[in-house]
This record gives sequence, structure tokens and C-alpha cells, in this order.
Amino acid sequence: MTGDKELKNSELRKKYLAIATRSFKTKLDIYLFIQTINGRELSRDEAVITADFGGFKIDEKIRTIYKNAWTQTQIELEETSGLMIKKIDEKIDDWNKVNKNTPLLNQLRKQYVENFGDVLTVKCFVEVYKEKAEDRRCLYCQIPELEIKRLRDNHKLYTKRGRGSQLEIDRENFHEYETGKIVLSCYYCNNAKTDEFSIDEFKPVGKEIRKIWDNRLSKINSL
Ligand SMILES: [Zn+2]
Repeated sequence: MTGDKELKNSELRKKYLAIATRSFKTKLDIYLFIQTINGRELSRDEAVITADFGGFKIDEKIRTIYKNAWTQTQIELEETSGLMIKKIDEKIDDWNKVNKNTPLLNQLRKQYVENFGDVLTVKCFVEVYKEKAEDRRCLYCQIPELEIKRLRDNHKLYTKRGRGSQLEIDRENFHEYETGKIVLSCYYCNNAKTDEFSIDEFKPVGKEIRKIWDNRLSKINSL
């Protein structure tokens, strides 16, 4: 991994690798989508696809077409060489089914994760995620990670155990984790924000969520 040496902290390393894996899934999905609408048969040949996928870059045009396809059931036919969205999804699903857990897919993932520093630098990741838990707070509701833990320890969180105790990395861009385009969010804001709302649209909602946290925290404080 590029910049791998900088990530000695195993918790941070685990987080970073999890983001790299999620990012890989998105890139593969976009790659398969573009191949399909360009009328190319989805290759199962390891050498072909490894070289092809490795060199595949997501530019503004690709991002727009993919985004349109994601949100619309019907997209401009000229963008998809006349293929209907349903047909495109079927082809991609087929490819994913055939290649699930294969050496080819493992190889693609490994190659992507090893070079993930080119997409999201370790430096940017650490700057946003922070090395110490006491420095982490949600961009939207501003709750510090340690306060979430305090809520959890005092039975003031109702989400299933194991979920929501750590802050998460959220993306500024549609579906992509990139240098300079990630923010830190709590599980609750991130889940409420989904892909629907922009960062700016969600900030006022975060302020309201913060009032709920403060209310719960005050109950602990007054015990
Ligand atoms: Zn939050």
C-alpha cells in the first residue's frame, strides 16, 4: 500500500483498509457499468481485466453518466448505447455472480488496495480521522467520539451493540473516498444523511441531532 509505513497504528490501518475495500467495490461497479454501456463484453480473462481495470480512471463525464443511471430508472439512450438500465444491471449482476470469491476478483482487489494511496492518501485519512479518539468529533452533530462511548456505557444508545460506537468516514463526492473529499461523521448522522443529502444540506439536521445527544448526556450528568 502506498504510504503503508506511515500507518503503524493497527486500528487506523484497519479503518483505512476497510475504506480501500469499499472504494474498490464502487470503482469495480463503475468500471463494469462503463464497459457494459460501451458495448464491451465483460471480460473474464485475468490479464485483460487486470490491465484494463488498473488503467481505468473515473473522470467527470463518467461520474455524471453513472450518477444519472444510479438515480434514474431511465437514462438518455445515447449515454448507454441504447441499453436499458435493467439490462445493464443484469449483465453486471451476472459478472459479479460468476466472479465472486475468484482469484481474479481477489487479484483486482489486492492491486487496488495496494495503490489506494493514489486515491486517498494516508496523510489525508489521518488528518480527518485523527490518531486519538479524544480528537474525533462528528462534522454534523459535533458529538465527540468519547461522548458516544459515554452514552453507550450509560445505556443511552439504543442501536444494537457493536454498532455506532466509532466515528466513520463519510464522502463528499457521490460514492467516492478521495483525498480532500472525506469528512468524519457519527454513525447516526451518516445513516440519516445517506447519499441523499449534501454536507451543507445536512448540517442543520446535525444541529438538531446534537440537541438530542445533549439531552441524553444531561440525564447521565444529573445521575
Ligand atoms: Zn453526528
